[in-house]
Amino acid sequence: GYLSNNLERTHMRIADKNITRAVLERHGFTFKKSFGQNFLTDTNILQKIVDTAEIDQDVNVIEIGPGIGALTEFLAESAAEVMAFEIDDRLIPILADTLGRFDNVTVVNQDILKTDLQTQIQNFKNPDLPIKVVANLPYYITTPILMHLIESKIPFSEFVVMMQREVADRISAEPNTKAYGSLSIAVQYYMTAKVAFIVPRTVFVPAPNVDSAILKMVRREQPLVQVQDEDFLFRVSKAAFVHRRKTLWNNLTSHFGKSEETKEKLEKALELADIQPSIRGEALSIPDFGRLADSLKEVGL
Ligand code: SAM
Repeated sequence: GYLSNNLERTHMRIADKNITRAVLERHGFTFKKSFGQNFLTDTNILQKIVDTAEIDQDVNVIEIGPGIGALTEFLAESAAEVMAFEIDDRLIPILADTLGRFDNVTVVNQDILKTDLQTQIQNFKNPDLPIKVVANLPYYITTPILMHLIESKIPFSEFVVMMQREVADRISAEPNTKAYGSLSIAVQYYMTAKVAFIVPRTVFVPAPNVDSAILKMVRREQPLVQVQDEDFLFRVSKAAFVHRRKTLWNNLTSHFGKSEETKEKLEKALELADIQPSIRGEALSIPDFGRLADSLKEVGL
């Protein structure tokens, strides 16, 4: 906590470029590309992230990948409590150094994809507060992390996370756009998703090859549509986008089969759902996909 106390005294921030450089040097830290390590060095952007997430004393925060604690510091100052999961052992003593003054931060040295989150969140001093996920995600596993968290039965109220701009655009895309696809559907089925702002690559060390975006996702009170079988809905929506330029009919026959019997069933299901076989998957909204999935079940596919 030596550094942490000095930071407090001098009103400097971990993300100040000079401080970040000094921390890395002091601990002889070298970046590991395989962990997606790009550290934020812009305090204005960090403040904007905290503002976007509307963090206050009545919110518990889960952070994924604190790095050297740039975002964690801002979160700790606003939230009731912060639980931060970091996979890289080498960062644990560094975080003790940079964040030592906070008694509302817990760093857990675990892979977020392997941790038992349900048990971990019982360790919040006040486990009844709403939990928000706020993070600058490692880009190599953005989608697996998001799906892992969304599909966990944990009632996160909100995600405010940084990711590659292109992925943020795909998640938040509307039908009939190039970015719209099965990822948009998988997330928007559970959450509303909106790009809050764009972050240029220049504010990171090392600078990544692409720009980033802050995506804000708020959990819907219930999924956007009611379907008989959620997994089947997601399988059907994936199948509809396998060949983006092909018609829905072609993608469905590729997926379910081309026998006369199957084709008859497909025709019937599309008629039931009131969907033209000649359109493309990208023209279908999530409610359309819901009707399609239920109709396909109905005809026995
Ligand atoms: N939050 C810091 C910041 O904004 O400067 C660092 C963000 S950096 C893009 C991603 C962080 O996630 C790194 O610290 C990396 O070690 C960590 N990380 C990578 N894979 C992880 C995983 N599976 N579980 C937990 N943390 C992970």
